[in-house]
Amino acid sequence: MQGIHFYHTAAEAKKALGLPSSSADEAVEKRYPVLTNSYYLGLIDPAAGENDPIYRQSLPDEAELQDECASCDPLAEEIQSPVPRVVRRYADRIVLLTTGKCAMRCRFCFRKRAWTTGSELKDITPEEIDTAAEWLRKTPEIREVLVTGGDPLFLPFHLLKRILDAVASVPTVEIIRLGTRLPVVLPMAVTQEKIDLLASYDCLWLALHFNHPREVTPEAAALCRTFASRGIPMINQSVLLKGVNDDAAVLEELFRKLIKCKVKPHYLFHVDPVRGVRHFATGIEKGLDILRAFRPRLSSLAVPTFALDLPEGGGKVALQPDYRKGDSFPDIADGHMIRYYGACDEWNPHEAGEK
Ligand code: SF4
Repeated sequence: MQGIHFYHTAAEAKKALGLPSSSADEAVEKRYPVLTNSYYLGLIDPAAGENDPIYRQSLPDEAELQDECASCDPLAEEIQSPVPRVVRRYADRIVLLTTGKCAMRCRFCFRKRAWTTGSELKDITPEEIDTAAEWLRKTPEIREVLVTGGDPLFLPFHLLKRILDAVASVPTVEIIRLGTRLPVVLPMAVTQEKIDLLASYDCLWLALHFNHPREVTPEAAALCRTFASRGIPMINQSVLLKGVNDDAAVLEELFRKLIKCKVKPHYLFHVDPVRGVRHFATGIEKGLDILRAFRPRLSSLAVPTFALDLPEGGGKVALQPDYRKGDSFPDIADGHMIRYYGACDEWNPHEAGEK
């Protein structure tokens, strides 16, 4: 990619922004490496420094290390795996983990364990692809495969094609949902060859991951319009992040921009209680307040479902504000007791998962 520079340390990224480096960054980077690029860095307003929403998503925060009580895998993906790379939580769909690589290391990533130093998830091998496809053939009730990572769209073309061909060749798979943040953090890395490949599968949907309206740049918007013109349907999955987008006006602007590019806002997730991420947690009430604010002023086409993943692999539950005056948030959903804590409180998965 001509003209794009990748930054592998906070010090060099901050230098490019004209910001001072910090000794705390190095300690964070030892566990959670830094990777960002000149395109995404260019969206930062250096005057806002570490309070900038793009900065917060891409550069380290010492709070990432002040989180030892949280789990690396609170959603129990690793124990819900019938064969390597496959996570099964629902009767009709699976997740296929293809890589730990991405064009950027998002500080809020709930799969940080896939790129924590010393435990990086390697690219899926041809043998693992064949094993997953074989398992799919023997498990015909699976109708949808979420191809994710890391970022599968950042994989080399030949490997991406091999994965998609293998999954699409299973007659009982009706939908492939490819989760990617590449069109957000580095749209110029989505080559014409990859667009042609994606457009060649009738069953493929793209699940994008825009979190802030500033990310919908002319380049990203043009790419989404290209996907739409090639018949590739798109949804967006945002995460509600403290100090990034926990504001109704900011999210309204994002969702309005997305529908103009033919991207349907699908989910707004509450942050999962993942180690190294909880400083981004807003609390559930914040998300419900934002949804309440949308009701009179934003088309339902632009309003996503607010959801959270239940602990220990309990799956997603949608949350709706209770519009009756004076009622407080019910803490029982789908038979599970839910207690999500702010960044500083202690997280107890056993208590939280109680029925
Ligand atoms: S691109 Fe996705 S998988 Fe990669 S670090 Fe960001 S959120 Fe995590």
